[in-house]
Amino acid sequence: MENTNRSPGEELAAKLLEEPKNAGLIMSDEEIAAADGFCEDYKKFLNAAKTEREACTEAIKRAKAAGFTEYDPTADYKAGDKFYFCNREKSVILTVMGKKPLAEGIRLAAAHIDSPRLDLKQHPLYEDRELALFKTHYYGGIKKYQWTTIPMSLHGVIVKANGEKVSVAIGEDEGDPVFCVTDLLIHLASEQMKRTLAEGVKGEELNLLIGSRPFKDDKVSKKVKLNIMSILNEKYGITEHDFVSAELEIVPAFKARDLGFDRSMVGGYGQDDRVCSYPALQAILDCEAPEHTCMTILTDKEETGSDGNTGLNSSYLPYFIDDLAAKQGAKGHNVISKSLCLSADVNAAEDPTFADVTETRNASKLNYGVVITKYTGARGKSGTSDASAEFVGRIRKMMNDGGVIWQTGELGKVDAGGGGTVAQYIANLDMDVIDVGVPVLSMHAPFEVTAKLDTYMAYKAFSVFFKD
Ligand code: MN
Ligand code: MN
Repeated sequence: MENTNRSPGEELAAKLLEEPKNAGLIMSDEEIAAADGFCEDYKKFLNAAKTEREACTEAIKRAKAAGFTEYDPTADYKAGDKFYFCNREKSVILTVMGKKPLAEGIRLAAAHIDSPRLDLKQHPLYEDRELALFKTHYYGGIKKYQWTTIPMSLHGVIVKANGEKVSVAIGEDEGDPVFCVTDLLIHLASEQMKRTLAEGVKGEELNLLIGSRPFKDDKVSKKVKLNIMSILNEKYGITEHDFVSAELEIVPAFKARDLGFDRSMVGGYGQDDRVCSYPALQAILDCEAPEHTCMTILTDKEETGSDGNTGLNSSYLPYFIDDLAAKQGAKGHNVISKSLCLSADVNAAEDPTFADVTETRNASKLNYGVVITKYTGARGKSGTSDASAEFVGRIRKMMNDGGVIWQTGELGKVDAGGGGTVAQYIANLDMDVIDVGVPVLSMHAPFEVTAKLDTYMAYKAFSVFFKD
């Protein structure tokens, strides 16, 4: 009901001025319950998918259950058909064919499933002072000190000398052992404490403690190392040489949890960018008989700049679209030029404790909905796709018409730092693209924080987009 007691100034302000509101004040109780329910399964996804390979496998498992079949290059697809294309077990494209020809463009949601972590080096295993350790090389941008003295698990694959591939996942089950990077006790850290925060723990100090008991035989040296190798040989059939053809990733071993007395948030590892991957995945799985062909791509290597054959700087996406286009007698580049993309990646939420790095009028906030980020980048908008006013206008209308609660965001204050997403690589293909994602606190930390209402609004945003 209109408030008839408003003064002329209040009337005018209500009409002309913008006043953002917390989604918790706007959403109905039913919708808030739906958002909480949505995030129950989201936490399961986080726990099941700690690496890009596991996220890819989990996405395909869910896709198959939703009626998707593996992409067949020789098949002719018709409207409503659902299929997935898996790229080297680390990225996946899920497609639902639309009623309109591909030449009228695709609706693409692009999220990434790789997250910051510690990778094992090629020769990782060593013994020092009768302790066994793994040498690591961190992946993506991390504050190294955050990765010490927390329980870690080990995930990945090892390809043996005979070509056989073994999968590894240890440290997740209750009964599993875990690992950790040690740090110096404060009593003896007077020199270390003089280092800068960036140097507090150095890259070559991120060594993972994995064992301490010797193999009982005085004739051999490095008995602890031998004992570890003996356990690994028994469990996985590997020798030390096999690490050279392995991809082993060390990630936090803890599970995703509700955060806060009100359970309004989720805390967990790898939410950049699974908090967008999960809604983009669920939206394509729920997509039925769309007008335009819809796709969700869950890609790898975003955290290291999208280079490599599983990252979006490679050609696997345009090649795939080219293949589909050819089936309809269209040209891939024409399809791409007509397509629209939501680059589904997280934004830095304003943190009350570190509010000096954000400019509050333009920073995203927890619980203010999904974030539409026109541009990211650093140093004068370098390294970004700056979405056009026309495209922002189109997406804004789409979100408003679809009842999506959204906000705008930027990656911190001007010249405070910055960052990028896959948007620029997709834009460089000649597609209209804008970043649409979830605000995160403690981004790239072992335990990142998101708000449930925002995650649900991301799902709604991708669903509305697929109905366009
Ligand atoms: Mn990201
Ligand atoms: Mn990131």
